[in-house]
Amino acid sequence: MNKRGIRLLLGVVLTLLLFAVTACGTKSGGDGGGGASASPLAPSTAATVKPSDSPAPSAAAEGGPALEAIKKRGKLVAGVKFDTKLFGLKDPVSGKVEGFDVDIAKALAKQIFGDESKLELKEVTSKTRMPMLTNGEIDIIIATMTITEERKKEVEFSDVYFKAGQSLLVKKGSPIQSIADVKKGTKVLGVKGSTSVVNIKQKAPESTVLEFENYQDAFTALKAGQGDALTTDNAILYGMTKQDPNYVVVGGTFTDEPYGIAIKKGETAFVGYVNGFLKSLNASGEYAKLYEKWIGEKPPQ
Ligand code: GLU
Repeated sequence: MNKRGIRLLLGVVLTLLLFAVTACGTKSGGDGGGGASASPLAPSTAATVKPSDSPAPSAAAEGGPALEAIKKRGKLVAGVKFDTKLFGLKDPVSGKVEGFDVDIAKALAKQIFGDESKLELKEVTSKTRMPMLTNGEIDIIIATMTITEERKKEVEFSDVYFKAGQSLLVKKGSPIQSIADVKKGTKVLGVKGSTSVVNIKQKAPESTVLEFENYQDAFTALKAGQGDALTTDNAILYGMTKQDPNYVVVGGTFTDEPYGIAIKKGETAFVGYVNGFLKSLNASGEYAKLYEKWIGEKPPQ
């Protein structure tokens, strides 16, 4: 072996030695500050952790202070839509609020209390839902809410529980058949606080966007001829076509709108609890049942 070879070998041996020393340090010191170099050691490190080293099951592991407060109160207060057919719609005659999101809220109350009636449904709109959660008026938002980076600055989100995409609703026979037909002079109706109005202003900047307080007001305005199209998630628009079959959803989707359950910022243990709930809802087949009940087809795999 020449000199260069020996130096190279020495270098390798030294690096290995350093690696071994770091590994010893990690054993007793938790994750040792993490970093990329710690990750290849993780499996063997984990094997050396004694059962007594792992955190004791605590309130935090169960669902944290948020879940503790809900249990103490004796009911879950969920913010749901009252204006959105298929997800959360209040029947003006019976006063009942029904939909996919409402059923998810009931299932969560059942998981927490063993009783789905230990639930109060409070009306939220796209505009009021985040302030109501931050103020503590509601424990949770289950209301056709898209997970976005912007919203993540203010609230926590569960895993995705429904996949929608933005589309357009028009009167049958309308010259508007897709987003490409939304041009200068086209009046598009939407709802304040939704991603839909933000997106349409980007996708069709020349159009005029009129914003309403809720989806029933926007739909009434469309039917009254105040606009050429209504824009929001396809699933919400399908609900409107069930209310009035003279209206159709056109042109497919032009955004992705993954729905998440929103929880107050910092309540990460409760997020973990809700994600566990969503997993068990899926595993039990209950999720597929609710999906078919409201959306009318099997959930995508
Ligand atoms: N999913 C969209 C959003 O979170 C539109 C539906 C809604 O307004 O709730 O903004």
